[in-house]
Amino acid sequence: MKKYGRSTVSEFLEDFVVYRNLDPIDSRLPSLTDIRERVGISTSGIPRKTSPEYARVIAYLLLAASQMREPKAQIERVVFLGDTRMNDGTAFQNICLAGNWPGMAFVASENEAPQQLEIDHRDAGTLIYANRWGAIDEFQAFCQEQGFDINEQTVVLLDLDKTTLGARGRNDKVIDQVRLEAGFETVSGYLEDEFDPSAFQTAYNILNQPEYHPFTADNQDFLVYICLILGGGLIELDELVVEVNSGRMVDFDQFIGYVNQNAERLPRELGGLHQDVFARVSQGDPTPFKEFRYKEYETTAGRMGNLDETATVDELLSKTITITQEVRQAALTWREHGALLFGISDKPDEASLPTDALKRQGCQPIHRIETDVVGG
Ligand SMILES: [Mg+2]
Repeated sequence: MKKYGRSTVSEFLEDFVVYRNLDPIDSRLPSLTDIRERVGISTSGIPRKTSPEYARVIAYLLLAASQMREPKAQIERVVFLGDTRMNDGTAFQNICLAGNWPGMAFVASENEAPQQLEIDHRDAGTLIYANRWGAIDEFQAFCQEQGFDINEQTVVLLDLDKTTLGARGRNDKVIDQVRLEAGFETVSGYLEDEFDPSAFQTAYNILNQPEYHPFTADNQDFLVYICLILGGGLIELDELVVEVNSGRMVDFDQFIGYVNQNAERLPRELGGLHQDVFARVSQGDPTPFKEFRYKEYETTAGRMGNLDETATVDELLSKTITITQEVRQAALTWREHGALLFGISDKPDEASLPTDALKRQGCQPIHRIETDVVGG
């Protein structure tokens, strides 16, 4: 593993990026509101990454982006780089179907085991699973063998979280750390002297486990809000765990409903926040704890390019969100061959873009922040 200096994700994606709200950062591309009807989305929410609606939005944006190029070229093929079999694999297949494009996906998560490649032929595209990010070279060779050219008729979708930034199995812990840090800072800001860091950590660790996903919906906003309410003393962790495990407390809606019924027992500083989160949850906002997510933007930005040039590779991988050199190198090569590159991120926009106030201070969206590049 080596250092490759510093760069930004925008070096190869420019502003062809969507975060969770599916509103492209490049303002020449249509917003989700503009295209909702045209892609047949009747509900008001934001489609989740694994849904067919999400794929239709992405396919529409890819066609729009390809129309902006000179000379114009039809999209004939899709390449997808990601880090999760289920999430990225499903999104990839849906996008292939939505655009009626053949596709090849590379999904990697690094581990200590000997290098392995697994090929998974699906009706809607072929997936290659790898346990090395460096196996992207084998992926390129495989595409070539199959006569699958990556050129101006190819669109390359890059997943940002734990793929382009913070490679899974190598640097992804830092991404989780900065989110937890944001949770700590937000909750301690509310509870002040009452804040008990170890109680927060314990509650977070327990309720973040997969067995509690039905209760938390695996939603970090919900989870941090729950930890805040626990910190405020409305209900004890042990008590809540018993309620959840016994099936009496089934989901987050029930929890926040309970808090709402007992809102007068909340410490004063939590009352207003609860009202705010409750209103957003009622409107179906999947990112209802805005302050936590704004803080996450700050803690994320604070871990990019944060160490000086004497930092070792190990220090960078444990303390900095780095750009994955293997992904960057492949992207630069494919762009040189004329491919259209597009970045997708499931990170909430509030955690990815600076607020207006921060923007005025010169803060940039995550994909435009300079950070270290590390890879094999
Ligand atoms: Mg990812």
